[in-house]
Amino acid sequence: MPTTSTNPYLPFGENKHAAWYGKDIISVKQFSRDDLEYVFGVAHEMRGMVERVGTFDLLKGKILANLFYEPSTRTSSSFTASMERLGGSVIPINEVKYSSVSKGESLPDTIRTLECYADVIVLRHPETGSAAIAAKAAKKPVINAGDGVGEHPTQALLDTFTIMEELGRLDNLTVTMLGDLKYGRTVHSLARLLSKFNNIKLNYVSPDILKMPKEVMDEVGEKGVPQAEFSTLEKVLPETDVLYVTRVQKERFEDPADYEKVKGAYVIDPDVMKAAKKEMAVMHPLPRVTEISTDFDDDPRAAYFRQMEYGLYVRMALLAMVLGKA
Ligand code: ASP
Repeated sequence: MPTTSTNPYLPFGENKHAAWYGKDIISVKQFSRDDLEYVFGVAHEMRGMVERVGTFDLLKGKILANLFYEPSTRTSSSFTASMERLGGSVIPINEVKYSSVSKGESLPDTIRTLECYADVIVLRHPETGSAAIAAKAAKKPVINAGDGVGEHPTQALLDTFTIMEELGRLDNLTVTMLGDLKYGRTVHSLARLLSKFNNIKLNYVSPDILKMPKEVMDEVGEKGVPQAEFSTLEKVLPETDVLYVTRVQKERFEDPADYEKVKGAYVIDPDVMKAAKKEMAVMHPLPRVTEISTDFDDDPRAAYFRQMEYGLYVRMALLAMVLGKA
């Protein structure tokens, strides 16, 4: 990939990380700080190319199987757009009820089938650990697009790219995660990924029944990152550089009565945000339900729509990397 002098992530482009060729992307644990800088450098190039020419032929002739066992708007369509903007094509399987999965086919068999036709497989599945199972069955690269309440690594990569683009740094940050920290896989990946940076402080604000899992907190704690839990936002909002809001994950509750108790627990609106810094970013993996008021959308700190766009560039970068073209 050619580099340009406008890329702040230079030096990249010597293809020294061709190590990603053929690799699966299952967890953020696979990414070192250097790897992240590399992904961001390629994503930045992708952004420039999309702005200049829209579509180009880096992955011409390559095929992506986009296998989604759970609903998706952004992840599925951004992987499709990424592949098509790079000149490749896509086998979309969104409605598994119309595929052999509905006949009882196992995940490994479905994966083995798709890799006969495709060069890379993107998988979203309701069970934690499913992406690792798929990767074990496949010879071709598998990219985890969300495995139940486990991880959503490509989201965390685009989240950190967003922070970098919006605030210009990934060190020296206070990040407050708000909402459903128990079932929200995006925050599990993001907390782990942020723990690789310096002078990060993580605040977790959630109802008692939706706290960040101990397993994630232990891993992050081992990296020496200070973490604190709260049930309200007031105390931590003024010090927050990134407010990462999440949806209460209705579909993952065992008891619908529990969902009813916590569904409207937090609402971010212009009034609440008066207490926040002028220079900070409000992010959300989307879809939002009621947790961010639409009245806040025009505030310059509302980064969640830009965040979606950054996702395109990061996913283009990841596809190019695992297919040996970056
Ligand atoms: N789209 C994100 C996910 O798939 C967040 C969400 O659904 O709330 O995890």
